[in-house]
Amino acid sequence: MWCFIVGQVVLICGKDTIHEMKTYYEKQLLDKNPPGSVFAAKMPGCTITAYQSGKVLFQGNDYETEAEKWQKTESGSAPTGKPAAAKTKSIAKGDLPAQISRMSVIGSDEVGTGDFFGPITVVAAYVRKEQIPLLKEWGVRDSKDLTDEKIIEMAKVIKEIIPFSLMTLKNDKYNQIQQTGMSQGKMKALLHNQAILKVMEKIAPEKPEAILIDQFVQPGTYFQHLKGQKSIAREKVYFSTKAEGIHLAVAAASILARYAFIQYMDKLSEAAGFPIPKGAGPLVDEAAAKLILQKGRDQLGSFVKLHFANTEKAMALVRKKRN
Ligand code: MN
Repeated sequence: MWCFIVGQVVLICGKDTIHEMKTYYEKQLLDKNPPGSVFAAKMPGCTITAYQSGKVLFQGNDYETEAEKWQKTESGSAPTGKPAAAKTKSIAKGDLPAQISRMSVIGSDEVGTGDFFGPITVVAAYVRKEQIPLLKEWGVRDSKDLTDEKIIEMAKVIKEIIPFSLMTLKNDKYNQIQQTGMSQGKMKALLHNQAILKVMEKIAPEKPEAILIDQFVQPGTYFQHLKGQKSIAREKVYFSTKAEGIHLAVAAASILARYAFIQYMDKLSEAAGFPIPKGAGPLVDEAAAKLILQKGRDQLGSFVKLHFANTEKAMALVRKKRN
């Protein structure tokens, strides 16, 4: 959103963008911040003041050049210092299309990244705008607010009416690529990209009006992770934290991802012979210790994310129990 006054422009930006700006103008930051501001920076041709409200004021002869660096670029990449060639003045970088909640959107979300036991599941789901009222009626919302029973019940109906794609990164594979030095952030980026591309294939020739990823990393970093991939979904890709509250496609994706995760945990519990707990607290240490005592340490990699500190804690418990 732009409102022009002579010699200045106001850009409405998200918290993340403002944070990025502060880093970008690090060397020009003023010692004293005006009331209500996050930072102020002064350069020869332009003064920049970012407010807690999300407004960022660019003033001075070069206001336009400077402000343009922060317009939304399609890849969401960090500014290069050059003004963007194509101007899309309706969208500020880090912001979403105004009507996105009512658009036909592919949403994607992941589950399991913080759980010691179990895989990472990523789902991209396509919700056409006509389906939004129905999903709302069903009570589709963030999976974190729903019990497992409710998730299962809702997932069963959602998956019948919505095109989606599920990526499951199983523990053995996870541990294998983690040991090559790949970060969890990169794994997630690869999985989101694959899931999104699969859904796009499924719905072709229809195209989504927007693609919304529940943000787990800065957009620039996300695309950095995808460098070298044969195919990258870039067009109309947006990021937002708490995205399940912005579009039901992300909420539906989060429900389907959690459903897949729950089902996988059931399989693991069956293989273990006792219920496998979620999370990364003391309960999982106990469960892992039990598993090691029953099946041996070499089987653990099929059940858990080995690089978590829980592995050591479980081993300590095993040593205690053996003594
Ligand atoms: Mn998420």
